[in-house]
Amino acid sequence: MSGAGAGIDIDSLMREMTLEEKVGQMSQLVGPKLTGPEGSADVERKIREGKAGSILNVRGEAARRLQEIAVEESRLGIPLVIGLDVIHGYETCFPIPLAMSCSWAPDEIENACRISGAEASRDGIAWTFTPMCDISRDPRWGRVAEGAGEDPYLGARISEAQVRGFQGSLDKPTDIAACVKHFALYGAVQAGREYYTTDMSRVQMMNEYLPPYRAAVDAGALTVMTSFNEFEGLPMTVHPYMLDTLLRGRMGFEGMLVTDYTAIKETVQHGTSPNLDDAALKAARAGVDMEMVSECFSTYLAAAVRDGRIDEAVVDRSCRRVLELKRRLGLFDNPYKYNRPEEIALNGSPESLAASRRLAAKSAVLLKNEGGILPVAQGLKIAVIGPLADQGNEMLGTWSIRPRTHAPVSLLQGLKERFGEQRVRFERGCGILESSDQLRKAALSLAKKSDVIVAAMGESAKMSGEGTSLADVRLSAPQRELLAELKSLGKPIVLVVMAGRPLVLEWESENVDAILYAWHLGSEAGRAIADLLSGDENPSGRLSMTFPRSVGQIPIYYNHKNSGRPAEDYAPYHNRRSQYMDIINAPLYYFGYGLSYSRISYSDLRIETGPSRITVSVTLRNDSGRDAMETVQLYIRDKAASITRPVAELKAFRQVEVAAGSAVRVDIPLEIKDMGFFGSDLSYRVEPGEFEIMVGPSADPRTLLKIACRVAEDS
Ligand code: BGC
Repeated sequence: MSGAGAGIDIDSLMREMTLEEKVGQMSQLVGPKLTGPEGSADVERKIREGKAGSILNVRGEAARRLQEIAVEESRLGIPLVIGLDVIHGYETCFPIPLAMSCSWAPDEIENACRISGAEASRDGIAWTFTPMCDISRDPRWGRVAEGAGEDPYLGARISEAQVRGFQGSLDKPTDIAACVKHFALYGAVQAGREYYTTDMSRVQMMNEYLPPYRAAVDAGALTVMTSFNEFEGLPMTVHPYMLDTLLRGRMGFEGMLVTDYTAIKETVQHGTSPNLDDAALKAARAGVDMEMVSECFSTYLAAAVRDGRIDEAVVDRSCRRVLELKRRLGLFDNPYKYNRPEEIALNGSPESLAASRRLAAKSAVLLKNEGGILPVAQGLKIAVIGPLADQGNEMLGTWSIRPRTHAPVSLLQGLKERFGEQRVRFERGCGILESSDQLRKAALSLAKKSDVIVAAMGESAKMSGEGTSLADVRLSAPQRELLAELKSLGKPIVLVVMAGRPLVLEWESENVDAILYAWHLGSEAGRAIADLLSGDENPSGRLSMTFPRSVGQIPIYYNHKNSGRPAEDYAPYHNRRSQYMDIINAPLYYFGYGLSYSRISYSDLRIETGPSRITVSVTLRNDSGRDAMETVQLYIRDKAASITRPVAELKAFRQVEVAAGSAVRVDIPLEIKDMGFFGSDLSYRVEPGEFEIMVGPSADPRTLLKIACRVAEDS
């Protein structure tokens, strides 16, 4: 095999390559059906002829077979890099990314990614298409499930943790390549409509949307994926400013840039190219290195080089980046490094499942708990009702790889294990989208004979993720109707919502006694929820997305601008204020919000200003009988600047243990250099002047302690 071995010399390898072989490295084909739609045609032949640099959606023996063809049967024996969407687990399924982000625990997320990468690596996978760094303020967009929510700071901390988790130091066979996606601004598609238009000012983009992508690139992500959406009238895949000037130039990305699935071909639909030939040239010129699936590069690029429409240097540059990725992954040294069937039995180990259960318990958010209904007292008769209660598979959520050994644990199973078979009875009551008189009657009759109702409602796994935009983000009508009938029985109701997006829960928030927002929590979902409902674990999850009280408030997010005629969030309507006539501005639940079984109060906020840093300190007191894990959030507001600034911006957070009945003083350093923004010339600056520092348990202004602070001219 030419060029193999530790001392792979990419220059000499490239000198041996024909133009077609170089273009071949720029093509990614899809293997025969694993998670995606249909496979590419003639995959084996194309690999043999050197016309594929990568394959996605294969694993195990099939991946090994394709790698053997590349290494043993192609002219130069260049190994393939095999990719798969390892989004929130492999054999061990972790909570969906949006749920994980509610743990506000980057270290645990990093660990989850490390486990996921290791499991995938044993089965042929060298490259995952994670992290999704798209900020989104719109729960109508089903892909919010795949990201870290609405905040650029929290999103950045989580994205970099994901990259660290998957890539490690890139020297172990369990370290795989990460892919920052979708570059960029995909989460801002108008009206939450999938694949739709994005448009915003570059100032807004720099300040509010780019930080997570930037953090992931800075963490050393080896690859980036272009997004499907257009921006400024150009699809991202052919956007020279975004891909070249910004990503490569300003952000310093040196790795390999892949498109999203068939995105080059789709630029013809967008209307920026009359044909696929032109689309391929535009993408290559903009800086795309590898095309996912649509084969425009492999069909048109070589001819375009030959007839002088594109410089061969463009092909060389991209081919080199693909080969460099393979070198970094160690594939030239050992092309089968990522295929270790003898280790597959390690996947889904008890330790990995325990990590999943722990993270799941940290990811669920307790939104309401009235009258201390939770934790559920021992000895009560529990009626578990709802279409999601016994559905372990649905708990895996979007982009999950159906586990081969470990059956996911449903809520019903988790509750039975914890509270005992005799205490826990189940009736479905309705389908997720269908009502049924018979099921409803059975559920009501069970509920009447019980002490407490645990209602398990929400969305199936298929209702969030790619291609799942919704105009009405409430519980489905059959579930709402069932809940209303259960309410009329007068029994206490604990609503457990399993969903991939924030749902609008206004009626529910007024009418049930407790709400646990459980998202799709993965392999151990049912046990993790039982841990929380029983009080074995104290809830500590905090929302990473604002929950609207009405679909009409969307997009709604905490770090909004003030406007010239602001209204307090809870103020009633006043003509000529920035408000609605029919609804207050406050969301139903704020970003950062989440209850526990403890009572924590904040007091005595102080700051100490040094030359380059402000130290913020606050006292937390736990007046309850339960130890707590509190997420202390620090926000700033720049009171007057050269451009308008948000009413609050998260700048730091700390997770602190506060023992029952005790108090702790918490110090949080805030670097003055981090208090700035990108101005209208797109340069970063910290402008001196008045700031407000706010510390508390959520972005709800009523819960934040505030203190003024001045950033001096010479800071
Ligand atoms: C999605 C990407 C994903 C890719 C490969 C696309 O449809 O938008 O997020 O990584 O498919 O499966």
